Amino acid sequence: MNKNYYSPIVIIGSGLSGLYLSLKLAEAGIPSLVLTKAPKAIQTNTWKAQGGIAAVSKPGDSIEAHIKDTLNTGNGLCNPDAVKRIIEQAPERIMDLQKWGVRFDDHVGKEGGHSFRRIFHFQDQTGAYIHRTLLDQVLKTPLIKLLNNAFVSKLIKNDSKIITGVEILNHPSHIQIQTKAVVLATGGCGKAFLYTSNWEGATGDGLTLGHQAGAELKNMEFIQFHPTCLYHPMARNTLITEALRGEGAFLINDEKVAFMKNYHQKADLAPRDIVSRSIKLEMKKSGAECVFLDATHLPDELWEHHFTGVFKNCQKFGINPKSEPIPVVPSAHYQCGGVEVDENQRTAISNLFAIGEVSESGLHGANRLASNSLLECVSTGHQAFESLQYLKSTKLEVSLPSKLTPSTETSSEISILWDEVRRCTWNYGGLMRSEKLLLKGLRRLELIKEDIEDTLSSLPHLTSAAQELINIHFVSTTILKAGLLREKSIGTHFRMDDPT
Ligand SMILES: Cc1cc2nc3c(=O)[nH]c(=O)nc-3n(C[C@H](O)[C@H](O)[C@H](O)COP(=O)(O)OP(=O)(O)OC[C@H]3O[C@@H](n4cnc5c(N)ncnc54)[C@H](O)[C@@H]3O)c2cc1C
Repeated sequence: MNKNYYSPIVIIGSGLSGLYLSLKLAEAGIPSLVLTKAPKAIQTNTWKAQGGIAAVSKPGDSIEAHIKDTLNTGNGLCNPDAVKRIIEQAPERIMDLQKWGVRFDDHVGKEGGHSFRRIFHFQDQTGAYIHRTLLDQVLKTPLIKLLNNAFVSKLIKNDSKIITGVEILNHPSHIQIQTKAVVLATGGCGKAFLYTSNWEGATGDGLTLGHQAGAELKNMEFIQFHPTCLYHPMARNTLITEALRGEGAFLINDEKVAFMKNYHQKADLAPRDIVSRSIKLEMKKSGAECVFLDATHLPDELWEHHFTGVFKNCQKFGINPKSEPIPVVPSAHYQCGGVEVDENQRTAISNLFAIGEVSESGLHGANRLASNSLLECVSTGHQAFESLQYLKSTKLEVSLPSKLTPSTETSSEISILWDEVRRCTWNYGGLMRSEKLLLKGLRRLELIKEDIEDTLSSLPHLTSAAQELINIHFVSTTILKAGLLREKSIGTHFRMDDPT
């Protein structure tokens, strides 16, 4: 083990929250190290965000209205102080992004749950565009070092239980980086479910790291499902935007019958959770593996100017949405809970902070208002920046490894266990839960754990695929346990055996 590497602040994650924080710190003269486990910094959920980022900007709209919409969506489980703090600063955070070169389309958009137009966006590729712009800034900022292929597998603590560094998987020996503060900016955990809109690496690593270090996890039962993810053996996480239904596309079952009107008066425009559960029920009735989104009647102009991304994605998999319905399934989309933090983004462990999707900032409660998560990334990033000011006067030397060699190899045994965990989370802790299902799921996870331990004991060294398997297993168990404790349906958590 090499113990000579050092950076005053280590930010784990190169998504919007991590990049934003590193840029703010650099402006204040504070160097930081941004780590990403992926070969490319763009491999994030941020890159996939389509809709936009919410902030009040128009006459008629108000901070109070945005707060009210957020609290309504969160079903009474948001932290009102956190909601106020995050939403009040939204316009300023948009200005931060603009200062670094982000340009939004002229017209702010409107999305479900928002009572006014307040979604800043860039076509249907907002996340990718913001990320590209911030990454350009990061790469030309000398005070920020970005290391790719840096898979953090452990947080290091001293005898006083204070975080002093991170350990990175590397071959042949792991690397340690000493630091004064670690910020978890590791994003979500969609990959714990069989179907997800999330990127490949959304394996809840920050949840496992935080938990192992002694931080609290909160609200983990609240997973938001998106109704329409492309169903295709090769399309692992391709979202089909809700805006298509907004323009008149409708869901049909395998007998080509439109079914949403049987479930909700708003039919295909019912709230996300209701549409997701209706699809699941329809699939259960017929035994089919997916339903279909019929958008064949939409005018060419919409495909050419508004839904270029969806059109290209469908074509990639041999589907022409102009002439055939798109096969879709609901998928795990967003983690509302996470590592519990206070108003300064501090966890319960000294020197450990959390920002962005991995953090439980109090903004979402039982459900997330659309486009509030990119906002959470920048607002919590800003709050962490304020908290880290105390490092302004520390020594600025940084010493880092020049190159990392991660152990990325996997085996069929590990792939099978990955699949088993994800199926288990989906089947027993997915859209429709009950005590019986959750208990069954937890029993299965116990058995899978034995197999995981057995498989890992025969590995010559820990690989990233093996560590991610450990992480999704932990996340899955946490979600099912949290679901068991909450007996009533609320927000994204639906209990078929709700006693009320
Ligand atoms: C398809 C899709 C569409 C969306 N659309 C919107 C939208 O329109 N508006 C909105 O507000 N939100 C949207 N969201 C949600 C939003 O994109 C995310 O909540 C947000 O981007 C999360 O940013 P983040 O910085 O927290 O994490 P991410 O952007 O996911 O970045 C996580 C980073 O952590 C790194 N990491 C993780 N584990 C480790 C480890 N062990 N070691 C080292 N590095 C690690 C990863 O490599 C990555 O760099 C969408 C999400 C998806 C999936």
